Amino acid sequence: MSDIAIFPGDKIAAIEEYEAGYNAFDDGDMVRAATVGKMDIDKDNRVANIKHPKMLSIPKAGDIIIGTVAAVMSSMIAVTIDYINGKPTTSKVECVCSTRNIRRKNIALVNDIVTLKIISHLNGTIHAAIDEPHLGVLFTKCRKCGNKVVPMRDAIKCIECAWIDERKLSTNFGNSEFVKLRE
Ligand SMILES: [Zn+2]
Repeated sequence: MSDIAIFPGDKIAAIEEYEAGYNAFDDGDMVRAATVGKMDIDKDNRVANIKHPKMLSIPKAGDIIIGTVAAVMSSMIAVTIDYINGKPTTSKVECVCSTRNIRRKNIALVNDIVTLKIISHLNGTIHAAIDEPHLGVLFTKCRKCGNKVVPMRDAIKCIECAWIDERKLSTNFGNSEFVKLRE
């Protein structure tokens, strides 16, 4: 491992020679650092990693994350990552998730807790998917009154004001193990 400090976006290897490993991404040409850290080249497996001093974690393609919805746009949501593969992370990395192909009035609201699958890193942005059954909203509240909601097939219903709304729910919606994870 080299002792030279690496900064996000720094070129660390050519993609012909190395694959992007931990805390690294490829821009189609070069493997680049996704975080501050030190280069950690695995010559045997031809993987270029960046070791962060505090082990800041950047999720890889295929990882399952749990996060908090930070913004909702017309065709995507931005999510602050709280857990990667069930492990808490304090790095507060954001990912974006396209919601273009999901026909629901509301996919998720700001401050909802969602679970997503990381699909790629593109130009320094982490992209995630929400369209598998186990992916989607794990926790949400009533949009009208802020109270608890219960699932009703694909929709949700407020136990207080009876408002019925839509979300892209995860099959793990309301899972008590997840509640434990949050405490
Ligand atoms: Zn309500």
